[in-house]
Amino acid sequence: MSLKERLREVEASLPDDVTLVAVSKTHPAEMIREAYDAGQRVFGENRPQELREKYALLPHDIRWHMIGHLQTNKVKYIAPFVELIHSVDSDRLLAVIDREAAKNGRTIDILFEVHIAEEETKSGWEPEELRRYLAEGTWRTYGNIRIRGLMAVATQTDDDSRIRAEFTAVHELFGELKSGYFGTDFDTLSMGMTQDYPLAVTCGATMVRIGSRIFGERDYTITNKQ
Ligand SMILES: *Cc1c(COP(=O)(O)O)cnc(C)c1O
Repeated sequence: MSLKERLREVEASLPDDVTLVAVSKTHPAEMIREAYDAGQRVFGENRPQELREKYALLPHDIRWHMIGHLQTNKVKYIAPFVELIHSVDSDRLLAVIDREAAKNGRTIDILFEVHIAEEETKSGWEPEELRRYLAEGTWRTYGNIRIRGLMAVATQTDDDSRIRAEFTAVHELFGELKSGYFGTDFDTLSMGMTQDYPLAVTCGATMVRIGSRIFGERDYTITNKQ
């Protein structure tokens, strides 16, 4: 099956109101171009330098999303153009994004990454920690960011009931924070990857991040040499 056919298949499996982020990390610009020519416009990357290089090489109506862990000293690479940062996991990072957005005369949309998976290595806020942070209120002083919702990565497991429980918990937290703090602008729930996105959609995801199902397996030996 061609990349274009795989993309069509994924699109056909999604409801119209769910946004597809095509996760192109580690794949060359030519493959992104192929997906672009097939009509895809939203792409996700997890390394700021790689994102910046691809931005320079590809058409500027591509909407670039940062989905991976972001170090504060690298925000400047993507602040001029990034559409949405999914992986905000600290106040410190939020403050830097706000500052870099202001420097660029922009408002940058962000999601809070919530930690729900069993794996301790996965980053993000514990739900209780995020509740405390929002109640405390520092985020209200940031004039150049717009908080659009939540992002989460579920545990890697074959146990669907476990994944469903995690996605459901994030969906409930999303509803709670939307009504408690944000209202209609808080409209994005980013969850679901190649292995678990159909489940994420049934649990209320409005955005899914799909890589290997579209672009094929990733070869990490290439990017590790960067
Ligand atoms: C790599 C990545 C994805 C896509 O993963 P696939 O299994 O290839 O679909 C989604 N979300 C995040 C945060 C990722 O790092």
